[in-house]
Amino acid sequence: MFCDIFIENNYKKIDILYTYIVKEEVKPGMRVLVNFGTSYRVGLVLFVYKDYKGEHFDKLKEISDVLDDEPIISEDLINLGLWMKDRYLIGYSKAFAPILPPGNLQKIKKEIKIEKYPSGKDLEDLNSIDLGKFYEDMDTFEKNIVKKIRRKGYISYVYTPLVTVKPKLVNFLKLKDNFDIRNLEKLSDKQRETFDLINDAKEISRIEVMSKLGISYSPIKSLIEKKLIVEFKKEVNREVDHEEVVENKITLNEEQLNAVNSILETDKVVSLLHGLTGSGKTEVYLNIASKVIEDGGDVIVLVPEIGLTPQMIDRFKSRFSDKVAVIHSKLSAGERYDEYRKILNGDVKITIGVRSAVFVPFKNLKMIIVDESHDSSYDFHDNLKYDTIEVAIKRIKDKGKIILGSATPSVESYYYAENGFYNLTKLKNRAKKGAYLPETSIADMRDELILGNVSIFSNELKERISEKLSKNQQIILFLNRRGFSNFISCRSCGEVIKCDDCDISMTYHKINNRLICHYCGKTKVIPKVCPSCGSKFIKEFGVGTQKVEEEVNKLFPQARVVRMDRDTTSKKDSFRNFYDIIKNHEADVIIGTQMISKGFDFENVTLVGIIAADLSLYISDYKAKENTFQLITQVSGRAGRASKKGEVVIQTYNPDSDIINYSAKGDYEDFYKYEIEERKVFEYPPFYKLVELEFSSYDENLTYKWAERFLKQMSEDINNINLKVTNFIKMPKIKKINRTKFSVKVRPRDLKLLIEGLNRVIINCKIREDKNIDLDIEF
Ligand code: ADP
Ligand code: ZN
Ligand code: ZN
Repeated sequence: MFCDIFIENNYKKIDILYTYIVKEEVKPGMRVLVNFGTSYRVGLVLFVYKDYKGEHFDKLKEISDVLDDEPIISEDLINLGLWMKDRYLIGYSKAFAPILPPGNLQKIKKEIKIEKYPSGKDLEDLNSIDLGKFYEDMDTFEKNIVKKIRRKGYISYVYTPLVTVKPKLVNFLKLKDNFDIRNLEKLSDKQRETFDLINDAKEISRIEVMSKLGISYSPIKSLIEKKLIVEFKKEVNREVDHEEVVENKITLNEEQLNAVNSILETDKVVSLLHGLTGSGKTEVYLNIASKVIEDGGDVIVLVPEIGLTPQMIDRFKSRFSDKVAVIHSKLSAGERYDEYRKILNGDVKITIGVRSAVFVPFKNLKMIIVDESHDSSYDFHDNLKYDTIEVAIKRIKDKGKIILGSATPSVESYYYAENGFYNLTKLKNRAKKGAYLPETSIADMRDELILGNVSIFSNELKERISEKLSKNQQIILFLNRRGFSNFISCRSCGEVIKCDDCDISMTYHKINNRLICHYCGKTKVIPKVCPSCGSKFIKEFGVGTQKVEEEVNKLFPQARVVRMDRDTTSKKDSFRNFYDIIKNHEADVIIGTQMISKGFDFENVTLVGIIAADLSLYISDYKAKENTFQLITQVSGRAGRASKKGEVVIQTYNPDSDIINYSAKGDYEDFYKYEIEERKVFEYPPFYKLVELEFSSYDENLTYKWAERFLKQMSEDINNINLKVTNFIKMPKIKKINRTKFSVKVRPRDLKLLIEGLNRVIINCKIREDKNIDLDIEF
């Protein structure tokens, strides 16, 4: 038999599978030890087959050893990895990186354990041998001996944990077997108390004894010396921080019940759950999850990184207690490993986590829930080369269902729902009695300028802030800085310089002092005066969270202010700290970026101020309007979560913009009708699929040359579909790396053919063999 194996390596240029001969039984997903050049490496078997059709049959080597008795990665995950490789035109390493267990395949150690001794021989020092090294030092004859004695049962192999992280060991106490009862007589009160506690508990950690009784170590030490108790080390899982909340079981309202039934009964794989913020979507998830688990299935709940708030985790843990694993990017390697092991061993039934949790090794996966499904953290990404929702659908398709939940679904997903590809179900009211949507007003910042107000706050927002402060209520001030690109706008009339062809705002490139359209490559010089009103107040837009904080401190010195942005929340527990501070009302004003737009549910927040609603409108992206609508709606949803009425003030230079108005009204359907028409006219998704090809190199000329060569090859190799190709766009140099890119648009039905075609082009023009150029394909 032959097998093709994948070997993790750092050199992306040699990203191929290697063929070996195998005589033992081996299945895809098992690890094998192979002779690789001058050393031994651990590889993962992807294919096993009978007929070898390749070249150099005489050079094939035999596998040195099969390391696993059963696959460590299931077949469906292997298939998913292979699918991703083809779908996203990436190599095996990138495709399999998110699927492999945490840690390094290479570093997995196999040790030898002595099972029985041949009579009279002492083989004790053979124990605990690192196999990699062991094998390298042995000749074939010796290896065969090892195999033989293993077959005869003298030794067995023991795999030390899949990663090099050690399990956490904690000191535990228990009574000593057959202790001398007489020793009990001379105990002090404290020792007695300690003894009784341990006796009751049977086994208890040292730290728990000390904290429960408020004692030092010395009574414990005395009991050990009196030979009444013993101390031993016990392996425990690192507890992922969460609060014990016992939630009252909520009875679902009629809308929620309808949603649950619709999702469980539909024969469509994907259900879009469109529900207002606060309409009880999470309750629907919890309900469906418990039904799936009752039937023996496993559930994955995906949450955007910033949506994985303590509140969210607490709700799942309080409903499903220890049946929940949690995966997020701030876990330590050890914690990550513990969570992975719980899932692999079937100790948990639910995984709640960020995008990478879509790959967790559940054996009976029946449901994937994607919360805030519109969130861009799920998208295909510079270095996370897969679209999370697409992968989720691919993974669950033949065995279960998926829920996409959002108050502001992506235009694409709503289009699929409207057109019958997805099941659509809606929650139209806030779930809590007496909680209504907030009242929204728009502050025209152009007028403020005319009135001589150059502060970042409109008079209206200022007044409302002081009113809420006097009522002892809390305020969120939101500034969207994500994807903030430099655009040029007029502070007098709000005009932003846009590309004439694409209707997308142009990006200001400081280096050559020009405006560039990141879609089609068209450039323009910066006008001296506003082309629309003639004003000279035309310049780069810029304001940061720190600036907002300063201004609040200046205007409202009595207010307690916290600022939440990437700078202040980078530490592991800081999110929880902020959460507690806000919940306990230790802050009056909370200033934040999109971090505060999700999952926050605080009763006392009654005012949300959106400092610059326009910011996200001018990201050079066809999704700019969609993102703006989503952000404003989501942030507005933080106001008036309970019985206190909520208010929202949206500050803008474009009060007449359709999107700002739809956002203020919070009406998704109206927004959707408007936006889907625009998408049709300008040929954006869902009507077309966009693929971006980026060539990068230290050598400036090379990026352009390769882009040209590639395009030429495309015209030869892809002639079965209708392609729309943009001009070449030269991107500003970052860290000495030059980039040239262009985009290709195709009808969705042609995407598959395009991907296959691009694959041919890559092979035929041999771009992967040129070490000086990198080709990145973004979907
Ligand atoms: P969403 O996920 O749509 O934002 P949540 O599930 O978080 O909504 O619900 C918002 C609030 O309403 C929460 O405090 C939740 O406990 C409460 N809630 C949800 N469903 C109900 C219900 N059926 N009856 C009463 N309160 C509910
Ligand atoms: Zn103007
Ligand atoms: Zn353009």
